[in-house]
Amino acid sequence: METIGFIGLGIMGRPMCANLMKAGHKVIVYDVVRAVVDEVVANGAVAANSPADVASQVNKIVTMLPDSPQVKEVVMGKSGVLEGAKKGSIIIDMSSIAPSTAKEVHDAAKAKGVRMIDAPVSGGQPGAIAATLSIMVGGEKADFEECVDILKVMGSSVVLVGSIGAGNTVKLCNQIIVALNIAALGEALTLGVKAGVDPEAIFNAIKGGLAGSSVMNAKTPMVLDRNFKPGFRIDLHIKDIANALQTGKELNAPLPMTGLIAQIMQALKVKGHGSSDHSAIVTFFEQLADVEIKRIVH
Ligand code: NAD
Repeated sequence: METIGFIGLGIMGRPMCANLMKAGHKVIVYDVVRAVVDEVVANGAVAANSPADVASQVNKIVTMLPDSPQVKEVVMGKSGVLEGAKKGSIIIDMSSIAPSTAKEVHDAAKAKGVRMIDAPVSGGQPGAIAATLSIMVGGEKADFEECVDILKVMGSSVVLVGSIGAGNTVKLCNQIIVALNIAALGEALTLGVKAGVDPEAIFNAIKGGLAGSSVMNAKTPMVLDRNFKPGFRIDLHIKDIANALQTGKELNAPLPMTGLIAQIMQALKVKGHGSSDHSAIVTFFEQLADVEIKRIVH
């Protein structure tokens, strides 16, 4: 069993921490929000005063933060991880950030003799609680192998996909596919409802065929029940799609569909849906056609 540092105790970080402790690891934690630190400490973790303080006490530091600026601040900023980290220690950044930021932070760490892998996740809060996250890792093979046992405590699929930044590149691919799937679902079911067909019948008729998907299975029941409680907030998906567009620009890779869904999600945010589950993307299409995709009570 190891002592592990954990920084970022949000919706995802708290259950991931709980699973590390359940597996017998000692966890030293930090978050800017005192209340979430207190909650995790009540469950057996030890609080530190800063990211540097966390890093000075461990050899492995997990970060689970909102986006690129927070990861840069926590690792490279004042009282950051690199101010306290021992030489040879390893940062496991599990946040979803821009691949270019992952490389930048990795290089800053390397200059101080600290290693880093990027290991973003998919599977959401339920996956974090059940320890069934899919974890896509970028980094050196030896560093991956040193961390894989800890990652397997938090996820059921842990795959090395390439060098540093590749984990986040794969996560962006995932986020593009999920957002566009929900948009396609919204557009198609809007057409069906406008034609007078029961949307639940459409779902049941096609979910086993080529159009079926995990996204369809997870999101259609939520839409039919008009349940847009997150789950995964539109605000966070906007962040990932912005990172995808930035990465496309850096790589000279046009992403026309991603650009369109970025605008659709922005319009939904303006209408007050930023904190809704991303299944609420369907409401954009409903409003265009003036219909609602809902369960018909017979
Ligand atoms: P969250 O906003 O609930 O948690 C982030 C935590 O980081 C908060 O507790 C916040 O206080 C803390 N934080 C922010 N700045 C900090 C700083 N400078 N120093 C220390 N702590 C700081 O977010 P989340 O839902 O837990 O997501 C975390 C990451 O995982 C994001 O990148 C997100 O895109 C990704 N992700 C989320 C989900 C999901 O369903 N929620 C699914 C997959 C991936």
